[in-house]
Parts: sequence; C-alpha cells; structure tokens
Amino acid sequence: MNSAEDKITNWFARQSKLDNRKFPIGIGDDMAMIGLGSDKSILVTTDMLLEGVHFDLSKATLEQVGYKAMAVSLSDCAAMATKPIGAVAAVALPKRFGQKELKQIHNGINIAAEKYNCPLIGGDITSWKTDAGFAINITMFSSQGNCRPVKRSGAQVEDVICVTGFLGGSDLGKHLEFTPRVFEALEITSMVRVNSMMDLSDGLSSDLPRICTQSKVGALIEEDRLPVSAQAMSKNDPLGAVLNDGEDFELLFTLSKEDSEKLFENWEGDLIITPIGEITSTGIVEMKTACGLIVTLKQKGYDHLGSGNGV
Ligand SMILES: [Mg+2]
Repeated sequence: MNSAEDKITNWFARQSKLDNRKFPIGIGDDMAMIGLGSDKSILVTTDMLLEGVHFDLSKATLEQVGYKAMAVSLSDCAAMATKPIGAVAAVALPKRFGQKELKQIHNGINIAAEKYNCPLIGGDITSWKTDAGFAINITMFSSQGNCRPVKRSGAQVEDVICVTGFLGGSDLGKHLEFTPRVFEALEITSMVRVNSMMDLSDGLSSDLPRICTQSKVGALIEEDRLPVSAQAMSKNDPLGAVLNDGEDFELLFTLSKEDSEKLFENWEGDLIITPIGEITSTGIVEMKTACGLIVTLKQKGYDHLGSGNGV
C-alpha cells in the first residue's frame, strides 16, 4: 500500500535511534520536534522545490515561486497546529540569474513572511555553472500553539475525518497561490481536541493512509461527501482529481464525534470544514462510492520517488 517515498522514509526512521526526550517527534511527521529542557521545545521542517517538478518558470513568476516555497513550509506548521517563528532559505541558481531575480524571489518570500509573522532570518546562495534548473529550499521553525503539536499518529477508531477547503485541480494554478491554513489550525485546536492531523501535500489517497498507518487504524470515507473544487470539476475525472491531485495544502484531521459536533456548531471561520468519513479498526483505507459500494482506496497520489525503483 505504501508509496516508494513512504517506504524509504520508514526505513530512515528505523535506522535513527532517537532519544525521545531530546526529540519527542522524529522522522515521519510534518515537522520534527526538538526538546530544549524544562518543557521548552522548537519544531523544524524543510522543503525543497525544483524547477520542472514543483513549478514551471514559463507559467510562474519568481515572486510566486518564492511565495510557494514559504507557503509549503507554513503548511507543515499548520499541519501540527504550531506557530511559525522564522525561516532560512537556500537557493541553487541557474547561471543566468542575478540580483534582479534574487530580489523577485525575495519579494515572494516576504509576502508570506509578513502575512504569517515568520521572517526570513538567514540562508545560502549557490549558482550552477550552467543554466541548470532553479531550486529553492526553505527550512522553517515553529513553536507550540494552543496544544501539544498534533501528530499523525493519534487517530482513534470512530474519529470523524475532516478536511478544510475544496480538493483537487491544484495543477490548474492554485498550487502557486494557496493559503497555508496556519491560522485556522490554531483556531480549530483552541476550540476542540484534534487527535491527528497533517496537510494534504500529495493527495488524499496517499495522505490519508499515512495517518492510518501511523495511528494503526483504517478509514472509511464517502465519495458523496468529498468537497470537490471548481478546478477539479472542470477536469475529465473530478473524483480522481479530488483523491489523487497533490498540492491541495488543506488540513486533513480527525477528532471524536463529540468534538466534531462542537466544532461544527461553533466554527465561524470563512473556511469550509467538511466531515468526509470515519476512522475504522479495519487497518485499510476504504471509500463508499456514490452507489453504495465499499471499495479499497488505491494510493495514487504524488510519489516523489515514482514507482518500480526497488526501494
Ligand atoms: Mg506536510
């Protein structure tokens, strides 16, 4: 069931024998957590974006790429309901890039930095000797929000599974200008106890099994309840887009029935939150189709290592 990326990530996790007091959260979640003694801690995430994979410079401006680089890491802060502190950026520039291009990238970074109170605090600039692809990496730090950081591994049987926003079709432009759900994650966790959470980066069909694997549970979602984006509706296969398109950067979380009722009664945010199913004890991820059939959900989201590479 697991993607090649999940397999190697699990292998890495098995190789690193981390001291749980120093590193309460290690490999395999949206951020790692470093304990600093006397109940203090800091969290860290890193994300690299590659030209030709995460952006296309014939369709995106450098400002948009700078914004997106920050936004994907901010989305990881949201995934654990933590507060962003600051970020460092590293870039590998094609030979043709100079000061003008760096300032454009910096502008995009700063738009996100100001909105989320997460300044750029350092970085590194390197250049290729050729016009090789542009790459940008952001490493971001955050601190605990209204509760302990919400891990992927806390889902409980009978939890309600929820997603924010509308899913699918991010490749039609949304992936460049999405809103990381930092404020909403902090708001939700100030209202109710969230048992597990992550951000949807690789598509629901790949990301929901990650919560299930780490929590040692299964899930049953309902096709009829999935919030389909306008972009997904415009595609040939809207359901496939909702399940498998990566880069929605919405929140996927689970909470008890009582807490979900409390959340839906009291939620006043503009962002739509949709219950899409329930955590089960089956150990597999299933979907009830529009005509009532229960089918196993195939993991068809984005796999950064592709398939068949023997990992
Ligand atoms: Mg993530």
